Amino acid sequence: MGFTAPATAFCPACGHATEVRMVHGRPRPACPDCRFVHFPNPRVAAVAFVTRENHVLLVKRGVQPEKGKWALPAGFIDLGEHPEKAAIREVKEETGLDITIERQMGLNFDPTSKAIVILYKAQTIGGSLAASDDAADARWFDRKDLPELAFESTRKAVQEWLTETHP
Ligand SMILES: [Zn+2]
Repeated sequence: MGFTAPATAFCPACGHATEVRMVHGRPRPACPDCRFVHFPNPRVAAVAFVTRENHVLLVKRGVQPEKGKWALPAGFIDLGEHPEKAAIREVKEETGLDITIERQMGLNFDPTSKAIVILYKAQTIGGSLAASDDAADARWFDRKDLPELAFESTRKAVQEWLTETHP
C-alpha cells in the first residue's frame, strides 16, 4: 500500500517528484532530492452529544461513509482550532442550533473513519433546528425511539447515555 494522494506527489520543500520509501516502518512519500519525508497526521474529530430531557440530537448522514444512518453532530477539527470550538461550529453547521459545552465525555478511536474522536456533552442555548451542510436531516430523538445509528463511537456514546439513570 502506497500513498498516491496528489498533495504528496511533489515535495513541498523543493518541488521534486516524491517517491514512496520505507521510513520508520511504513511506506511514506519521500523526496529523493532533499531530505523531506511526508508524515501524515492522525485525523481528530469533535463530536457533540446534545441532549434535551429524554431526547438526543442526531443528524442523518447525507454523505458516505454510513450515508442514510443517524449520527451525533461531528466533524474534523481544523488546524489550530480548539476542539470545543469545532464541536460548537459543527453543530451550528449541521443543525442550525447554538450549543454550550458542559463537559468532555471521553476520547475514542473510530475504526470506520480512522479518526480520534473527542466527545462533548452539550446543551442548546439558541438557534432553530434546520439540517444543512453534510446533514440530510436533523432531529431530536426520544431515547425510547432511536433510529439506526452510524459509527461505533456514536453507538457506544448512545449506549452509555441509555444506561445512565434518568430522574
Ligand atoms: Zn525535496
